[in-house]
Amino acid sequence: MTLNSGQIKELLEEIADQFEYHKKELSQYDAVIGDGDHGFSMARGHMAGKKRIQELDSSCVGDYFKYYGRSLTSEIGGAMGPLFGILFTEIGGVTRDLAQIGLREFTEGLSNAQRQIMELGGAKVGDKTMVDSIVPTVEALEGAVERGLNLKAGFEEAEAAARLGLESTIALRAKKGRSRYAQEKSIGHQDAGATSFYYFIKTIKSFIEREC
Ligand code: ADP
Ligand code: MG
Repeated sequence: MTLNSGQIKELLEEIADQFEYHKKELSQYDAVIGDGDHGFSMARGHMAGKKRIQELDSSCVGDYFKYYGRSLTSEIGGAMGPLFGILFTEIGGVTRDLAQIGLREFTEGLSNAQRQIMELGGAKVGDKTMVDSIVPTVEALEGAVERGLNLKAGFEEAEAAARLGLESTIALRAKKGRSRYAQEKSIGHQDAGATSFYYFIKTIKSFIEREC
């Protein structure tokens, strides 16, 4: 069970549309402790990614992920553009010469991305960032590959793990940057970046469910 480059183009357009759709909600989560820009800057970056790949006609899956990820990195200011862009550029790296992508490639790409995001951003599990959702998702995907699950079953498990990871951020206190007072205020609210990662995985899962 795999997706070809035409399907990946459609999937990335769908991911972009999801971020446009959820931009107010994502910014509200960020406003609790941050500057409330998360949803709006994500939507701007993903729309740029969508525009970029619409101009592209390639039989290589990796090209779509690579150019989409680069648009995120260059369009979204601050740390979030490069951090979220890594998810796409790493999957693009694994599928550089491939006409198809399956569970094994998604897993390898996201596992590489997790390592890089944690290295670059310095966040660990429990710091109330998107890392809290990424780590259990990669673990679920690796378990699915080991057990020989297909793409659809693998992403069902990944989505459930991403949801649990996202929910785990509600009780956590933000540890990265900002004032002590703002960090206390973060308890009881889910993290914006973890929510974005969850929507990313959820969109892939729903797409695969329809296509496969
Ligand atoms: P900014 O903090 O520059 O305003 P955004 O509002 O777009 O960026 O993104 C905020 C989100 O970024 C947080 O909800 C969190 O999930 C994520 N984040 C912040 N710092 C880190 C980090 N060091 N590593 C990983 N993710 C992080
Ligand atoms: Mg912000």
